[in-house]
Amino acid sequence: MKLLRYGDKGREKPGLLDRSGRVRDLSAHLDDIAGVALLPDSIARLRTLDPERLPLVEGTPQADLGLGPCVGQVGKFVAIGLNYADHAAETGAAVPSEPIVFGKWTSSISGPDDDVELPRGSVKTDWEVELGVVIGEGGKYIDEDRALAHVAGYCLVNDISEREWQGERGGTWAKGKGFDTFGPIGPWLVTPDEIADVAALPMWLEVDGHRYQQGSTATMIFGVARIISYVSQCMSLHPGDVITTGTPPGVGMGQKPPVYLRGGEVMRLGIEGLGTQTQRVVRG
Ligand code: ZN
Repeated sequence: MKLLRYGDKGREKPGLLDRSGRVRDLSAHLDDIAGVALLPDSIARLRTLDPERLPLVEGTPQADLGLGPCVGQVGKFVAIGLNYADHAAETGAAVPSEPIVFGKWTSSISGPDDDVELPRGSVKTDWEVELGVVIGEGGKYIDEDRALAHVAGYCLVNDISEREWQGERGGTWAKGKGFDTFGPIGPWLVTPDEIADVAALPMWLEVDGHRYQQGSTATMIFGVARIISYVSQCMSLHPGDVITTGTPPGVGMGQKPPVYLRGGEVMRLGIEGLGTQTQRVVRG
């Protein structure tokens, strides 16, 4: 299933994408794609519905029908740094021996195609295409071999990063990672049964049509199960928490010389099976 949130910003309604790529309304069955609605029994109930019999929502998603973040009311937005061997190399950093864990403020979360706002005075705003993991069943001290049972679904994330605030202005990374609009998630949450191998997903990102990132989740250092298990040693995970799992090579700071976003550019990014995002860059 592909679950999504559509309609007016901040008042999105729950929906699902049917086989023909149209949106079906789920309002009669749940309040939001959020929290306890992502628990396994709730997802199982949604599976019993026949999409063809749900109300059809007018419009084409991501064209004349806008989508919001694919998960609402996110409690925690956790991120993993330097989690691709080839990306660690391009930044000149050593391959980490344990996952680097940081937070993105939940106020940074935005829809998949919303404008991305450059912080005032920013000259080093950068992009990072990433695989996002949405937690279903929560827990702490989760065993790695049981960890994938805690996944409600996967989604596309752009972990937008202001490099001066991240690395040149004193700790911590969170300063550069959490500006408003720095966390587009969606277009939809894809349940794990639709993903043949989460460790072999091609992913890419373009700015104004130039392809900067081209990678695969195959080069992740710590896989999804290990990340969930590891993060759950540091905190309890709750339904609807989102973990974004790091980026492959090709970020702006890795270019020679570095390239950063300016107002007026357009980012496009995607992961196979998880859809695409398109964001216009605007000055804040
Ligand atoms: Zn990242």
